[in-house]
Amino acid sequence: MELELVTIGNELLLGFTLDTNAVEFATALTEAGVRLARTTTVADDGPAIRDAVVDGLKRTGFVVTTGGLGPTRDDITKKVVADIFDAPLELDVEYLEKLRERFARLGRGPMPETNRTQAEVPRGAVKLKNRWGTAPGLWLEGAPGVVVMLPGVPREMNGLLREELVPRLKKRMDGGDALVIRSKMLRTTGVSESALADVLHGVDEQLAPVTLAYLPNPHGADLRLTAWNVPASEAEAMLERSAGVIQPLLGSWFYAEGDTDLAEVVLNGLQQAGHKLAVAESCTGGLVGQRLTAIAGASAVFVGGVVAYDDSVKESILGVPHDLLEAVGAVSEEVAEAMVDGVAARFGVDAAVAVTGVAGPSGGTPEKPVGMVCLAARVGQARKVTTVHIPGDRDGVRQRSAQAALNLVRRLIP
Ligand code: AMP
Ligand code: MG
Repeated sequence: MELELVTIGNELLLGFTLDTNAVEFATALTEAGVRLARTTTVADDGPAIRDAVVDGLKRTGFVVTTGGLGPTRDDITKKVVADIFDAPLELDVEYLEKLRERFARLGRGPMPETNRTQAEVPRGAVKLKNRWGTAPGLWLEGAPGVVVMLPGVPREMNGLLREELVPRLKKRMDGGDALVIRSKMLRTTGVSESALADVLHGVDEQLAPVTLAYLPNPHGADLRLTAWNVPASEAEAMLERSAGVIQPLLGSWFYAEGDTDLAEVVLNGLQQAGHKLAVAESCTGGLVGQRLTAIAGASAVFVGGVVAYDDSVKESILGVPHDLLEAVGAVSEEVAEAMVDGVAARFGVDAAVAVTGVAGPSGGTPEKPVGMVCLAARVGQARKVTTVHIPGDRDGVRQRSAQAALNLVRRLIP
């Protein structure tokens, strides 16, 4: 099953409003195994809305719209769609009464007459209950195909989408083994997209009809496997099989499935191995601690950290020797090691990680350019120190440094 989405609103085209409805919609459809074939955005303009809806109906026979269902003059979606179906707008007296009651109940005084239009329904349309606002969703089905109109307000759109539309779509697909789209994500870090592509060269043929997509991001590269239009009963097994082909090739770059954060993997690993963790951060300024404490239950493993930004703090709190700082500079493997030992001793733990680097945009030198980051980690007796060179702007360097720090710990966990 496939359909098209038309998001409606001048503000979307002017750039004032981010089209979050399109994202919510795409997510919900993918989860439900319905293919979203196309999304079009148009202004609050009759002919533009009409063209987009009619074209979508020609292609897929099923169009969903968001926006333009409000009570004001620029809200014309209902009228335009009713026109396409040759369905006159009729006043739903019962609904009008409910609207009046709603206004009274919420203590908003008498209902403004402009709201009356929200009780007008194209003949033959089914109302979809809107518990979050005043404009019902509308499902209109006839010779041109199916058009479902949803309100533009994100909370209302999302509620109607999840509680009214998706269940109806699922029912429509029922009867036999419906064809679905299902995805599975494998997360990697510490490897470039191109190096991954080298390792996975030629694997695509083995995976077909499952496809493989590379999704690079500041935390690494995620690999998304997708089974397209396959019987629901076979989708999971197909994805499992594909993951089984790929995962061994990824080695230790692979750290989790789905949307699990690396910090969670680190915390779980340390907990199972019976370690407590402390962090010493310079250029990341607390980002590593932030990532760890974002995970519920972090306190079972994470004890605390020091943001040792100035050299004086590296000395006084972490016990990094003054002479060492003078001799090799704060951004060095030697200082990273001294920081990790210092913070472990200070907090009385046997697992720790330290980060010191040049986040930029200034402060780089030929020997220590912007993006050079030294990392040290300890887990029990195991320890490792390393230097990485991270491209990008200040924010990118800091984000990737935090990820690299967490990854260094992960790789030391037995
Ligand atoms: P409307 O139903 O067109 O009157 O829109 C009501 C409110 O929802 C306005 O504040 C819009 O900016 C917002 N809105 C409409 N469409 C979208 C969309 N596609 N994504 C996010 N917000 C939207
Ligand atoms: Mg609007």
